[in-house]
This record gives sequence, structure tokens and C-alpha cells, in this order.
Amino acid sequence: MQLPDPALVVLVGASGAGKSTWAAPRYRAQEVVSSDALRGIVGSGPHDLDASADAFGVLETIVEARLRRGLTTVVDTLGLDPTRRLAWLAAARAAGLPAVVVLLDTPEAECRRRNSARDRPVPAPVLAAQLKTARDVRRQLEAEGWDLVAAVAVESTADVPVALPDS
Ligand code: ATP
Ligand code: MG
Repeated sequence: MQLPDPALVVLVGASGAGKSTWAAPRYRAQEVVSSDALRGIVGSGPHDLDASADAFGVLETIVEARLRRGLTTVVDTLGLDPTRRLAWLAAARAAGLPAVVVLLDTPEAECRRRNSARDRPVPAPVLAAQLKTARDVRRQLEAEGWDLVAAVAVESTADVPVALPDS
């Protein structure tokens, strides 16, 4: 799957869907702006939820600064908050960059399995709420006006584009 570059790339998927794993071999570390990593910088660690507001403040600053410079920016958060998604989309549009979503469409049971195998699992009710939100997200994404929504299937490393840019 060929994604535009430079571009804004917003990762979307529940915890354990494989967002960070998908991005790591495809982008330089500096291109990936991760809310977990920023919680580790402004807070006590990637899982310091009390640091979320500060981490997202820094994240928005970095994303906007990179996009203004026309730099590829991969937003590595859950991507499940429509308000945040639309703000990133608007920033990409303002910068004249293509705006892409990569949807990690991992089966719910696989997300739960991976989550429970992790050192610091997300509490089951929190993951259940994320998975519930993720169920509706594809329909929302299609209405939001992204240049491309690319779904990544878990069963293989193949990527299936579900919408193509107008060009
Ligand atoms: P979070 O939202 O919590 O950051 P994430 O979506 O970034 O989660 P990852 O950290 O990428 O998820 O992956 C979670 C776990 O699943 C890791 O242990 C990773 O090794 C494993 N994993 C990710 N992608 C795959 C894959 N395609 N095949 C097998 N295992 C995978
Ligand atoms: Mg991650």
C-alpha cells in the first residue's frame, strides 16, 4: 500500500490493535508523534494518565508545527476522538498536505488477547469501551472527508485501501 508522503497519517484503533507496531518500520521515529511517549516525557511514564492533558497539549503543538513545515506526521494515539481527528484534518488542510487515516481493523478478541499479554494491560472495561467506539469509527471516518482511509487487516501484513483520493 502506497500512502502519500509527505502527509498527515492518523492511526486509529483500540489499544492492542497494533498502531505503534504498524508505524515503527514504516516511519522515522521523529515522524511519529505518540501520546504514550509524550506522557512519558511530561509525566512519570507512558501510562501516567494524569499527564494526558499535558501530553496532548504538547502533541497538538508538535503536530501543528510539523504540518506547517510540510513534514510527514504520524499521529499515534487511539484516534477514536472525533473532535481531535477533525482538528488534525483541518491542520493538514491548512498546510496543503494530504490527510490519511490508517485504521487498524484488528478483531476484538485479538485486541483483548494482546492486551492481556502486555506488561501493563489496559483495564478490561476501558478496553471494552474503546472497542465499542471503534465499532462505529469506519462509518464516521467515511463522513469526515479524509483523502484516504486505509484499513490494515491483522491476519496478514496486507493493507486494503477502502477509499481512494479524488486525484
Ligand atoms: P496502544 O494503543 O496501547 O498503544 P497499539 O495499537 O499501539 O496499542 P501495539 O503496541 O502496536 O498496539 O501492539 C500491541 C501488542 O500486539 C504488542 O505486543 C505487539 O507486539 C502486538 N502486535 C502488534 N501488531 C501485531 C501483528 N500484526 N501481529 C502480531 N502481533 C502484533
Ligand atoms: Mg501504541
